Amino acid sequence: MQASALQVSALRRAQLLTRRRFLSYSALAPAALDALIWGQTSSQVPAVGHAAPHISSQALDIHGRAFVFDAHVHALDREFYNGGSMGTRKTDGHWDLSRAREGGEGAFFLSVFVPEEYYPSRFETRQTLRRVDHALRQLEENRNLVELALNADDVERIRAKGKMAAVLDIEGSYDLDGDLGILRDLHRMGLRAAQISAHNWNQNYADSCCSTPKSNGLKPHGRDVIREMNRLGMMINVSHASDDAISQVIDLSESPVIATHHGLRSVNNIPRNMPDALLKKLAAKGGLIGFQIGSEFAYPKEYEWLTAQRGKTFFDTSNIPDRVKGKTIYEVDQLVAPQFPMPGARVPDSVMMAVDDWVAVVDKAIQMVGEDHVALGTDFDGGPTLARGMRDVRDLPMITDAMLRRGYTEERIDKFWGANLLRFFRQVSQQHS
Ligand SMILES: [Zn+2]
Repeated sequence: MQASALQVSALRRAQLLTRRRFLSYSALAPAALDALIWGQTSSQVPAVGHAAPHISSQALDIHGRAFVFDAHVHALDREFYNGGSMGTRKTDGHWDLSRAREGGEGAFFLSVFVPEEYYPSRFETRQTLRRVDHALRQLEENRNLVELALNADDVERIRAKGKMAAVLDIEGSYDLDGDLGILRDLHRMGLRAAQISAHNWNQNYADSCCSTPKSNGLKPHGRDVIREMNRLGMMINVSHASDDAISQVIDLSESPVIATHHGLRSVNNIPRNMPDALLKKLAAKGGLIGFQIGSEFAYPKEYEWLTAQRGKTFFDTSNIPDRVKGKTIYEVDQLVAPQFPMPGARVPDSVMMAVDDWVAVVDKAIQMVGEDHVALGTDFDGGPTLARGMRDVRDLPMITDAMLRRGYTEERIDKFWGANLLRFFRQVSQQHS
């Protein structure tokens, strides 16, 4: 980007903040300033004090009976970087165990998030191990509320005890070279799902949606990674992969594959979203698409407004190599930390998505591929800008209410909330392990 455009972008950012608040933050690193606009810092997004939405009693009943299984939650970024426990109820951000229970969540993919900042100095494996250690320690510390699930039976067993089930899932790269021994080690530690791309960057064996392709999808070693994940019974997550990579993975994989947090390109035309033809192909082989809950995937009007404010797309990570150059892993931690929790931006009411707009996107997918191939993958605390009136995970019943307004049956609503994902997890983990 040219300097003048950068200045304009910075000015727009500044205009969004009060002068005093902007000055108090102006000494922060660019990432922190970005976080103020895109993933705003927690202090700017009121969670408590914001009125609870009105939900119909029928929706509350159905939601209360449903098993909600969220395929993508940034549950522990805040705790990894800033300390604290996932069991402590927070007044900011989207998600903690207490509020998740209130929103009806019974199980969730716990994202082991290894962002791009760790790749240029090849810290990705080290960071994966640190994050898995942290996740397992957090689960142990909160064992009265949550347990690690290694398969679908575990999810049901844990749920029967009245606890939440957590499935370890890596978002990003555990090793840019895709070492199969490291993959097996991580599986032994409890990892049950992994992304094909390195978040928005290419792996050395598979292409991302949002970088210049290097492998035309998968290199031969990428095919080895897929086969090994099949053999281990791991879930293959194609969110953030390139269209070619997704298509080749679907062709190759013996198990169905999942896009844990996604949207439809025919709704919002961004490379992070899935073309209709690819969704049909994914579903035809038993796959699932989890819908990211934010407007950036589901509502072009708000996406365009936000992108204009920010001066770049949310998946543009081109400035990262310069920012992390020469830094130690601990210095990279410090650079990344201010982003979390990342609850999404404030937007004017005039461009804001309504919950019915969001459900319309899910509905479009159901019209195309049927109700057995849709799921929830919120991305809570990973940056989604929520629908009007939705505070955080507590307000998931707003979606049930909107689905009822659309005339959905309880069976269809249950499939979307968790029955499809549980079926998928069972199929993948039992078919090959
Ligand atoms: Zn993601």
